[in-house]
Amino acid sequence: TENATAAALVAAQQHSAHNYDPLPVVIASAKGAWATDIDGVEYLDMLAGYSALNFGHAHPELVQVAQEQIAKLTLTSRAFQHDRFATFCADLARLCRKDAVLPMNTGAEAVETALKVARKWGYEVKGVAADKAEIITCGGNFHGRTITIVGFSSDPDARGNFGPYPPGFTSVTYGDVTAMAAAITENTVAVLVEPIQGEAGVLVPPPGYLAEVRRICSENNVLMIADEIQSGLGRTGDTFACDHENVVPDMYILGKALGGGIVPVSAVVADWSVLGVIGPGQHGSTFGGNPLACAVGSAVVRLLETGEYQRRSRELGAHLHELLNALPADQVAEVRGRGLWAGVQLADGQPSARVICERLLARRVLAKDAHEGTIRIAPPLVIEQSEIDWAVEQLSSALSRR
Ligand code: PLP
Repeated sequence: TENATAAALVAAQQHSAHNYDPLPVVIASAKGAWATDIDGVEYLDMLAGYSALNFGHAHPELVQVAQEQIAKLTLTSRAFQHDRFATFCADLARLCRKDAVLPMNTGAEAVETALKVARKWGYEVKGVAADKAEIITCGGNFHGRTITIVGFSSDPDARGNFGPYPPGFTSVTYGDVTAMAAAITENTVAVLVEPIQGEAGVLVPPPGYLAEVRRICSENNVLMIADEIQSGLGRTGDTFACDHENVVPDMYILGKALGGGIVPVSAVVADWSVLGVIGPGQHGSTFGGNPLACAVGSAVVRLLETGEYQRRSRELGAHLHELLNALPADQVAEVRGRGLWAGVQLADGQPSARVICERLLARRVLAKDAHEGTIRIAPPLVIEQSEIDWAVEQLSSALSRR
């Protein structure tokens, strides 16, 4: 009965911090692109755990690897070596065409890791004076929730009343290469950029932006750090969103889908000239690089090396964007994104994206608003074309109040 959901929603409020405002659905199981709630209603998942579920729920290969590893060895801490570690690091380094990997767990931790590496590189390799290192970030960014990271956020909710914030960060307008070039000083050690800004509403920068950022960084001996936590690992139709401009950053920050939607796995991936600045005792994590994470992470790399998921994202993404772009202009003002990733900007006069997402929920489609006027669409890359067609029909009906 519907009462199961209603009761579970009330119960969830009782003893949990109210740091989220979830849509009113209580999911109990899921497979591929479909999730089932505690009342037995099935939903098409068009969010995919903010791209942590790129390979779908319960991907058979990932589940098998995880189950075998759970029964065998799950944690050693980094005090000891384990038999899945070297392979995972080699696998991920190969995927990124970089020398080395520093594994962590969550996205925010990996971002912090990259910032620490960049500062240390700045002092020890670039020769920046003690405590003067500056890192350039972009307006509208989302890189996580730590104090440092929210300190350079431009979102009042994300940063409000969490100060004082660590110094050493400068912000420039996203997509503006002139502002980026002007912000660089002799103390700049790195630029931190999302190749596509996800939480900001799937904002794609102007063509050539990433290539130009790459050029500015190279010319000024500044590290280019690409936060591909949400944009990477197949989401945009390529392994990395930077690939679309043939850009290779100095550091990749990865997370979300790296853990196959099963365990939190994140990493910073770079060449030795950068990552080599970190020595024993200078950074770490009890769970980072644990055997379960490494086993699943290696399996994720194997899936990506088939190219199948990138191809699906590219081809089905083109189809998705074609359908979304055909929605009437008085309902949808703009569709942004790349591959199986879209930000649907609602036209003026439409209800909020939240209201549309609630209507979609009633039509058995899971999607989430990003900011007020944008519906974010990012289905698992295993979704079928007919399912995309059905989801867009539901969106069309939700917009038309039918
Ligand atoms: N960076 C980007 C681009 C993200 O989209 C996110 C999460 O949405 C993060 C970092 C933070 O990742 P986590 O929530 O795992 O800390």
